[in-house]
Amino acid sequence: MSEKLIPATQLAEYVYCSQAWYLKQHGVQVSKETRAIQAEANAWHETQGRSLATGDSYRWAAYAAVLLAVVLFIFCWLGWSRMSIVLMLASTLVFLGVLLFFLAHRARSKTGIPAGEIFYQDLIGQPFQAEVLRSAQWGISGKPDCLIRTPEGVVPVELKKSKRPPARGEVYPNHSVPYGLVIYAGQQVRRVEYTEASRRWLAQVIDLVRRARTLPAVMRNHRISGRCSGCGLRPHCDQSLI
Ligand code: SF4
Repeated sequence: MSEKLIPATQLAEYVYCSQAWYLKQHGVQVSKETRAIQAEANAWHETQGRSLATGDSYRWAAYAAVLLAVVLFIFCWLGWSRMSIVLMLASTLVFLGVLLFFLAHRARSKTGIPAGEIFYQDLIGQPFQAEVLRSAQWGISGKPDCLIRTPEGVVPVELKKSKRPPARGEVYPNHSVPYGLVIYAGQQVRRVEYTEASRRWLAQVIDLVRRARTLPAVMRNHRISGRCSGCGLRPHCDQSLI
């Protein structure tokens, strides 16, 4: 089944430029400059992953400090230890715990990711590799940067180095997904609603990509010259707008 699934990154590439998607599918390599930009983006993702990992470490250390402080307070209350020294130690641990919670919050807020338990992540620099998510219903697969559990449900999050949101965002279909978030440079956040219109659009893109896989050539699907000016495939493209 997995051989037939279309990776979600391919859908995004196709929406951006069908001709660029086609050239990549046929083994055309992007320019050296584009590879350097991609390497920068990977390094940026690694930094975001480290910020999250650091935040997690601080948070667990804060829980440990507060727990130990509670144990010491109980010892004092039961009269099992010398009151003044243990109270001083417990107070220091409470202070340390508060400081660590603050540092954890600061490390996470650098990424722009909102509150909620992160139970899945595909950011470079994380200790565990994220599994590929598959949808047999839609025939696609992909790895969102993060999945966070919120009171509204599971929210997929994509992190972008760019500060400029494009005209549209991608969605990861799942019946329990209330919406998706695309966070640009840890500052601007685009909320992608999982609406009937989004679902129709996604189905249309999947269908286009599936059909384009069998075609001997595809026509460019945009008229935005800016896309061509920054395109690493332009030397191999006969449909460039510039
Ligand atoms: S040069 Fe323009 S049309 Fe050609 S692949 Fe790049 S973005 Fe697409």
